[in-house]
Amino acid sequence: MHDKRCYDDILDVIGNTPLVRLNRITVGLPCQVHAKLEFLNPMGSSKDRIAKHLVEVAEKDGRLKPGDRILENSSGNTAMGLALLAIQKGYELTVVVRDRTSKEKLDQLKALGVDVRKVDTSLPPEHPDSYNNITPRLAKELPRCYFPDQHNNRENNDAHYLGMGPEIWDQMDGRIDVLVAGMGTGGTIGGVGRFLKEQNPNIKIVAVDVEGSIFTEYFRTGKVGKPAPYLLEGLGDEFLIGCADFSVIDEMVQVSDRDAFHAARDLARQEGLLVGGSSGAVIHAALQVGRTLPVGTRMAIVFADSASRYLSTIFNDDWMREKNLL
Ligand code: PMP
Repeated sequence: MHDKRCYDDILDVIGNTPLVRLNRITVGLPCQVHAKLEFLNPMGSSKDRIAKHLVEVAEKDGRLKPGDRILENSSGNTAMGLALLAIQKGYELTVVVRDRTSKEKLDQLKALGVDVRKVDTSLPPEHPDSYNNITPRLAKELPRCYFPDQHNNRENNDAHYLGMGPEIWDQMDGRIDVLVAGMGTGGTIGGVGRFLKEQNPNIKIVAVDVEGSIFTEYFRTGKVGKPAPYLLEGLGDEFLIGCADFSVIDEMVQVSDRDAFHAARDLARQEGLLVGGSSGAVIHAALQVGRTLPVGTRMAIVFADSASRYLSTIFNDDWMREKNLL
């Protein structure tokens, strides 16, 4: 999309997304803010990158063989990326999603012919059918099944260490002071953060979490507290997961559903950027952190997916009112 080449394969279009300076929503900030537009990946999110990497490394070492089934739990975006990989490479695909997953994502997965299993998120984490327990169980039950396990398999972080990290470094000409990105599985912040710290350990890595998730309290106190329900898709978790690499994180900012959703709506109206709720959380945190930085500081931030997945929720006044968020 961004060069004059004709691609031989849709999978070659994954990654190499544009980095764009935000000039409007940032008015008055002492720093520059550059956003990585991950919704321009073929399936519309940063998770296309990990889908491709997780499938290709497993093919290489024989964990995944022709005709096998891929199984994963996903907030919807990894599922979309894996659907593209499965269709292009001839695998079956089953995905487990939370019941709060937006209708748009579920409709898209249906259009792609994916076998979707919806999980009741009111079940406690220790319940055998809870979001994080059901998939390992299905992995044992389903024949010829490869479960990449994006929440615990650090090949997820590697995908971003090898892809988005070097891209941001190059696109910023090596002049970057702060990275702000969301933390869901932790792959993005872990992989990009690790790459940037290796180039320059002074780069500040800021992870964005959502109110209700246990990540922030764990980062600050070393204790896993009690999770609370939240609506934002893609960020946070109710317990600790293997891809959450706190060693590269300097600061965590926890954002409420309300602030994240309103910031996403502001981005649409002020920048013309149609991005999802996690990008709203990221810009909210970036503006907060940015206000405290010295003049001329250069910040890169990650917008993980598109508003098109949340038109019936975040961008719908009736839904927002129903959730008491307007
Ligand atoms: N935003 C959205 C919309 C996502 O789907 C995800 C993935 N869960 C993230 C942010 C966070 O990315 P990561 O899993 O790499 O931490």
